[in-house]
Amino acid sequence: MAIVKADAYGHGAVTVAETVLAAGARWLGVATIPEGIELREVGIKAPILILGAVNAPEEIQAIAHWQLQPTLCNPFQALVFSETLAAVGKSIPVHLKLDTGMSRLGTAWQEAAEFARLVERSPHLEIASVYSHLATADSPDPRIMNQQHQRFRQAIGQLSAAGITPPKLHIANSAATLSDPSLHYDLVRVGLALYGLYPAAHLQPVLSLKPVMQVKARVTQIKEIAAGTGVSYGYQYIAPRDMKLAVVGIGYADGVPRNLSSKMQVLIRGKLVPQVGAITMDQLMLDVSAIDDLQIGELVTLLGQDGDIEISADDWATMLGTISWEILCSFRHRLPRVTRASSASSACSCPEGLGML
Ligand SMILES: *Cc1c(COP(=O)(O)O)cnc(C)c1O
Repeated sequence: MAIVKADAYGHGAVTVAETVLAAGARWLGVATIPEGIELREVGIKAPILILGAVNAPEEIQAIAHWQLQPTLCNPFQALVFSETLAAVGKSIPVHLKLDTGMSRLGTAWQEAAEFARLVERSPHLEIASVYSHLATADSPDPRIMNQQHQRFRQAIGQLSAAGITPPKLHIANSAATLSDPSLHYDLVRVGLALYGLYPAAHLQPVLSLKPVMQVKARVTQIKEIAAGTGVSYGYQYIAPRDMKLAVVGIGYADGVPRNLSSKMQVLIRGKLVPQVGAITMDQLMLDVSAIDDLQIGELVTLLGQDGDIEISADDWATMLGTISWEILCSFRHRLPRVTRASSASSACSCPEGLGML
């Protein structure tokens, strides 16, 4: 199951969904109903699991109408589903979520059998899978993950004693998929790794991954400024010497975190160039004093590789004290997505303006 929630972690849900389905993924996972509808509207037929909780009758009707598959998290929700679907005379596949230690969505694992029996009694609900989610799969210490796995197995044992055999079981996110094949069960819910990033550094030896996303923009203006000149809002940066400044057409509204102001570097012609002054909504400035004969329109790599140097979402995450998941999903619709065919040798034709490759 390819997890394409949050606009496929900022990469563009439709493009990613079509690509992964063509590459052999069988299921898609999203967080919300609108995310599922976006995929159905372009004609995607693959089963789509909604990972989030759905409670309102209108939402339940939308699920049935668009043939999305909901997660049921507790008996009350199952009853609301059953009643709403009875009124429209429909029956749908549902996925039961067990809480084995994440303390987020799901019914306590000890109550799995009771929960499943209640769902089974409804003629409008058909159990398609039973699943759980891991809290610490990216830790090098597997103890908590193993405890969650143990609980999951006990819950399955309970179900089996009650005569219930779910058609599918699943528990692995990217980190568990990479770290422990005994957690793979009938499908794995892979998000981050699909986008070429490692959930944790210690998983790097398992598989060779390369980031899918590159973020590039173009130089829109170049100017000389004198020592002592303030740059951008709040004059957080004052030129320490005469310098050459480049303005670039990308900002925090596109997903470049403002907290990277005067901290981040970008790549131009394979060289690291410092960003200076506050990053603004739509543009940011660079100290390009070291680049001779820079031209308007030149490509600036914010994330990705240029020459021998690569800047990754992990580098940004480290500077910001966050995780790469948050960096990726902050890239927004305004930033055009440019999709490149997989052939490594294909020339990259970036349209004017900015975008992702
Ligand atoms: C987001 C999510 C995933 C994917 O997690 P990654 O760490 O990005 O692989 C899997 N399962 C559930 C329930 C999720 O919410």
